[in-house]
Amino acid sequence: MAGRAVLVTGASRGIGAATARAFAAAGDRVAVHYGRSTAAAEQTLASLDGAGHLMAQADLADPTAVRSMVEEVAAELGRIDVLVNNAGVFVSHPIEDTTYEEWQRAWAETLGVNLVGAANVAWCAVRHMPDGGRIVNVSSRGAFRGEPGQPAYGASKAGLVAFAQSLARALGHRGIAVTTVAPGWVATDMAATRLAGPEGDQRRAESPLGRVATPEEVAAAVLYLASPEAELASGTVLDLNGASFLRM
Ligand code: NAP
Repeated sequence: MAGRAVLVTGASRGIGAATARAFAAAGDRVAVHYGRSTAAAEQTLASLDGAGHLMAQADLADPTAVRSMVEEVAAELGRIDVLVNNAGVFVSHPIEDTTYEEWQRAWAETLGVNLVGAANVAWCAVRHMPDGGRIVNVSSRGAFRGEPGQPAYGASKAGLVAFAQSLARALGHRGIAVTTVAPGWVATDMAATRLAGPEGDQRRAESPLGRVATPEEVAAAVLYLASPEAELASGTVLDLNGASFLRM
């Protein structure tokens, strides 16, 4: 089905920008959501094939801003057929080296954006989503493998999986399929410092393929999970970690 109305959160950079481009190349109209990176979001918008796209700003930690943003997108696009909950933050706060105040801040920010922010976008978007809609959440390998230096991130991504599965069961009666992708390392700004130098070589070696994912590879998986053909995948989690972490 071409010409869908698609909202991609965190589309100013990285996986979100690649996902926006993939939907636009498929003939869809895309709302490029962003937080602070206005110039980068403008670049994403300019790079999209086709017409009818727009930019939409909101700090996902702010429920009021989220609601206004989704309402604006729905008004411009007429509806929201597909929501991609992609935006996220990766804040380091190792338990033994972090003050109690830093610990509070890291948990509040991480859960506020990665989990509650995504839940709030979904609440608002579902009200504009016709039967047969799709929600794809971008989680992480860390939901299953653990994140020793970023425990709130691991917990937020595990929460996102459970949230998607709950919505899959809640919204199936409308033909809305809700799924999750769980990438390992992806070559984006978020991972750039960790993929540089000898440490980066170690991270690439985690996969027998000897490399990390590109944003375009994650985008292709999201595009599939948002397709009409993927209805029966509702509730699934698609691992994209190059066999670096295998689970049953
Ligand atoms: P990225 O390059 O750092 O981009 C993050 C995006 O999220 C940006 O568009 C940013 O918008 C947006 N964002 C962050 N905080 C926000 C806030 N408070 N309000 C609104 N938007 C906010 O990250 P990425 O690597 O593409 O990651 C995309 C998703 O994939 C994330 O959920 C991440 O956890 C997940 N993931 C990444 C990797 C990896 O290795 N890169 C691995 C597994 C999963 P602005 O810049 O405009 O503020």
